[in-house]
Amino acid sequence: MVEGASFEAWRRSVPPPTLRIQGREVVGAVSWNMNDTCNYRCSYCTQRFNPDRSGHLDEVAIARHVRAFESLPGSWEVKLSGGEPFRQPGLVDIVRGLVAHGHVVSIQTNFSMAERQLLAFMGATQGALHVFAASLHLEYASVGDFIARARVLEPWVRDHGVSFCVTSVATPERLRMLHDEVAPAFREAGIRFKVQPEKVHGVVRRYSVEETELLLALGGHNGLGAIAPDFQGRLCWAGSRYLVIKSSGEAYRCYPASRVGGKWAKVGSIDTGFALMDGPRACPYTHCNCTVPIERGMISGVSPRPDTSDTSHLDEES
Ligand code: SF4
Ligand code: SF4
Repeated sequence: MVEGASFEAWRRSVPPPTLRIQGREVVGAVSWNMNDTCNYRCSYCTQRFNPDRSGHLDEVAIARHVRAFESLPGSWEVKLSGGEPFRQPGLVDIVRGLVAHGHVVSIQTNFSMAERQLLAFMGATQGALHVFAASLHLEYASVGDFIARARVLEPWVRDHGVSFCVTSVATPERLRMLHDEVAPAFREAGIRFKVQPEKVHGVVRRYSVEETELLLALGGHNGLGAIAPDFQGRLCWAGSRYLVIKSSGEAYRCYPASRVGGKWAKVGSIDTGFALMDGPRACPYTHCNCTVPIERGMISGVSPRPDTSDTSHLDEES
């Protein structure tokens, strides 16, 4: 057990994760829930309890956000989600601004945008798009729709190294179908498919033994092989090399931090600026649903998974 000053010295001596994305050194990643607006009303949406689901950024707020991202040191990966990011007016300009500043972008979308919107977005990314995660909501879209639409992205996947994947929320009533029909169809089409356990008020719902087996056979949470990972007590770079920015503009260390709180939970806001931590801190939470720190090697003793397309935006909504 390391205590007091020795713990502090040890904590500060832990080397930061090395991130190389789209050919550039990246300091860290931001998950940005840019709006609350969505054109769907999925029955399992984690935002379904929100009283107002119409929030989006106006021009002034967009400028404030882009300025805040410019204040981050070096290049970061900015992961756009919502709500539905393609319902955010000015999305293409936001992306252009982030890329012009040297950041890399990723996106999580329900894939329902018009094709011209999709092409405009792809064009704006200018070779700096890392992950394109399409969220399949079977209450609104079909596997066939997604496979057909994925073809539009093939040039970017092939020529610009964009990592494309499809993900779906594993509600108990759909688990069998996801396992027997949806996953094989995407496998056959050569598309990576992953599932997210369903959450209620931020907590993974209960699954029966049989459902748990199906969920694990589908890869567990985001293909990580577990349903509700617990890294409590491990040193984690979230807050220093990873931030979650909610649609309110408040910045948190990670998703559990935004929900549960605690001493190191808040790391500033778009209005006041970011106060990045000076290094890793011990994780105080019992359930880590933050795929970015897991996949990017930000948690001590947890191996990075650089070859997977993370979809951690789904941690709080999808
Ligand atoms: S919950 Fe996950 S991301 Fe958050 S501090 Fe713990 S290990 Fe890090
Ligand atoms: S789950 Fe995603 S697509 Fe469905 S309503 Fe919620 S934000 Fe929209």
